[in-house]
Amino acid sequence: MKCDGGCRIGVMGGTFDPIHYGHLVLGEQVRTQFNLDIVYFVPVGDPAHKKERKLADKLSRYEMVAMATMTNPYFRVSRIEIDNNDVSYTVDTIKTFRKNIADADSLYFITGADAIIEIETWKSFEELLGLCKFIGATRPTVGDSHLFQKTEEIVRKYNADIMLTTVPALAISSTDIRNRVSRNESIRYLLPESVESYIHKKGLYLDE
Ligand code: ATP
Ligand code: MG
Repeated sequence: MKCDGGCRIGVMGGTFDPIHYGHLVLGEQVRTQFNLDIVYFVPVGDPAHKKERKLADKLSRYEMVAMATMTNPYFRVSRIEIDNNDVSYTVDTIKTFRKNIADADSLYFITGADAIIEIETWKSFEELLGLCKFIGATRPTVGDSHLFQKTEEIVRKYNADIMLTTVPALAISSTDIRNRVSRNESIRYLLPESVESYIHKKGLYLDE
């Protein structure tokens, strides 16, 4: 990555199994709202948290993210986690990004707000909270007081920088898309057409 000073970078981690419009809307919204130069989508290799089901292979998930992000000049896909054969931890990924971005205020980790309120269970979370800013995506429903309270608590306790943002397309999920494929139902308009064709061509998610 080339970033000669002054770059503002977003990093969006996920299993992307498969990537869908919820992810893409979130990336684009955060990019414009926080004036980011580039948003990196980082498909996880072997996730530390999601082990209850077998994921689609790394290369397929990477290729789907690459196809889905191709038409946005501000989006990139990173192989950093899929090329690593160990379990992926966000702290290690962010440290690698920080090698090229000296300023913690110029690096934003983007994720669901529900993930952020569990951050105290992540590996080396106190160190991680000092390495970048955080943006948590919330559902467009008012009054999630538990979420706001917990976020405030983490901000106070660890002097973290966490901002919440509301995303309109939050109801779309990869779980729902996989279930629809296995039931032979349409997934049209939930994700880019290129990704939809790829899923059908490769026969992904048929026996969920
Ligand atoms: P699964 O259903 O398998 O859990 P997912 O749809 O939640 O998949 P992930 O790959 O787990 O997708 O999500 C990557 C990141 O994108 C997470 O931070 C998640 O909170 C966020 N995200 C997922 N779906 C949406 C959506 N519809 N709108 C905004 N953000 C989303
Ligand atoms: Mg999820």
